[in-house]
Amino acid sequence: MLIDSHAHLDMPQFDDDREEVIERSDYGGLDHILTVGTDLDSSLAAVKLAQQYNIVYAAVGYHPHNAQECDLRDLDRLAQVTSEPKVVAWGEIGLDFFRRLSPPEEQLRIFSHQLEMANDLNLPVIIHDREAHKDVFAILKKLGKGEKRGVIHCFSGDIDLARDFIELGYYISIPGTVTYKKASRVKEVACDIPLERMLVETDAPFLAPVPKRGKRNEPLFVTYTAMEIARIRNIEFEEVARFTAQNAKDLFILK
Ligand SMILES: [Zn+2]
Repeated sequence: MLIDSHAHLDMPQFDDDREEVIERSDYGGLDHILTVGTDLDSSLAAVKLAQQYNIVYAAVGYHPHNAQECDLRDLDRLAQVTSEPKVVAWGEIGLDFFRRLSPPEEQLRIFSHQLEMANDLNLPVIIHDREAHKDVFAILKKLGKGEKRGVIHCFSGDIDLARDFIELGYYISIPGTVTYKKASRVKEVACDIPLERMLVETDAPFLAPVPKRGKRNEPLFVTYTAMEIARIRNIEFEEVARFTAQNAKDLFILK
């Protein structure tokens, strides 16, 4: 029992062997993969993959990198496809002040708009927060507390910030970087947050965990991430797998 809560199966890195990658995950023991959209086309591709493969679910949204190209009509189109039964979340959305591929004010505008839409649609959100901790936290705080509001994907903050997000009703998703030797901050977070609030993810095709570091990542490699979390916490792998899978099922209402 294991769920990759964040992958980008629509990306061109999978064009040659997408089907094999998905089948490998299935045979390898994954319950589900959530494939996450980053703009209109990739979100529609994600929905298609979810229709095509049993194991795959989809999230739709506009990534902060693409905020500049986002038309509000695109968001309405995405809102329409959320009526598909396997579209289970809105994302990924958020702020990226590290790469700043879209101007910060555009990112803020599109992020806020999508948060409202997700709220109206009663969907959990998948949050991208890179070098924008203060702003993301302030915006989510203004939206108010909930029980299962969403997930902070690829969490890169410290343990205090993780606790603050959990307090607001968010889950913390631990990526493959937790397997990197020097990643002491994410290791500390993976050790200290309650298992009841933890998800695991690959962010495939990016961020492959050790021993696949540097290669293309794929959903099955989330196994290495869960193994490392078990090692850090000194518990069984099965416990990490079971808790994080159950959390993903609860948050995204997966069957
Ligand atoms: Zn992502």
